[in-house]
Amino acid sequence: MQKKKRIYLDYAATAPVRKEVVKEMLPYFSDKFGNPSSLHSFGLEAKAAVSNARKTIADVINAEEDEIIFTSGGTESDNLAIKGVAYANKDKGNHIITSKIEHHAVLNTMKELEKEGFKVTYIPVDKYGQVNPKDVENAITDDTILISIMHANNEIGTIQPISQIGKIAKKNDVIFHTDAVQSFCHLPIDVDKFNVDLLSISSHKIGGPKGVGALYVRKGTRIKPLFHGGPHEFNKRAGTENVSGIVGFGKAAEIASKEMKKESVRLARLRDRLIKSVLSSIPGVRLNGHPKNRLPNNVNFGFIGVEGEALLLMLDSLGVAASTGSACSSHDLSPSHVLLALDPDPVKAHGSLRITLGHETKEEEIDYVIKILPGVVEKIRKITPRIEGVTTI
Ligand code: PLP
Repeated sequence: MQKKKRIYLDYAATAPVRKEVVKEMLPYFSDKFGNPSSLHSFGLEAKAAVSNARKTIADVINAEEDEIIFTSGGTESDNLAIKGVAYANKDKGNHIITSKIEHHAVLNTMKELEKEGFKVTYIPVDKYGQVNPKDVENAITDDTILISIMHANNEIGTIQPISQIGKIAKKNDVIFHTDAVQSFCHLPIDVDKFNVDLLSISSHKIGGPKGVGALYVRKGTRIKPLFHGGPHEFNKRAGTENVSGIVGFGKAAEIASKEMKKESVRLARLRDRLIKSVLSSIPGVRLNGHPKNRLPNNVNFGFIGVEGEALLLMLDSLGVAASTGSACSSHDLSPSHVLLALDPDPVKAHGSLRITLGHETKEEEIDYVIKILPGVVEKIRKITPRIEGVTTI
């Protein structure tokens, strides 16, 4: 029996764990199982492995080792950054600034803080999903304690002017956090050039294991821990470290950061070929997100008169795994908050398809998508009832 074709183009949701990463992790489940807090040789071995991963990750973003706090992933890093700063700086003010297109790990954390009395300003974005730094500056009040704006968007790939926003935050003495989960090891990151005080990253988006991430915390930033227990992670995150996960994260960061320059050129070329071909061969389609200033591995199309879910399922039946929005909302049929922020028409937000590329993506796989997509869209349009005044193709 012929093996079914399976093409994975959903790297923004998660990436396959690299073989070298698995190999590096394995001993930490068996021979090298020690607790990094133990003083004997088993403990020291584990402690050295955690320190090594910390150094690798710190180097990638131009940070110091003791500014890297390991967490359980991007979601925890965002929670620790936002709640941690809010609770530790309550005496200074209760106002936070963020954007309308943040990941739910940020937006839902803000919602929780609003219930506790914090005031949150949600900055709108332009039609490409970009925040205007002037809007951020204008929103700052005497009560503003935190600005949290993501580096690159997980749905549409748009990159934000982080350094400019960072400068504004610094000038106004406001703590600045960025969620860099999607950009880490895809775009260069320098915490000093960005003027950020906190930066969230996650292992499973770059070929590392799931359930591990990190938060960069600039020295001197006032932050309250969310977990209480031992003195782990410089007293900022209690709990015995996920040693094997951290080792895997470090190895993935080492490989992905070394490959980044070459890979971003390769992926951007494939991305642009896919965009050009789809825009020219399929009627009633637009590109969501910024035409140039976007992640090298992100493509997001909006098809008029097509349900994104139908598209996804038909592509899956032909062996292609893509997404309609962010991984967290792929079971939720309400339109994406990111697409609604670009254009409030819910009809347009429904027909979206996100294709995200990564380290195992091959040219032939993109060729296959280019070949099958026009037929798939045509078929769905044929079976979808036309709604007068809504369906325009
Ligand atoms: N932030 C962004 C921008 C993301 O894309 C994701 C994951 O999709 C997260 C945060 C959450 O990361 P994790 O899955 O590691 O909790």
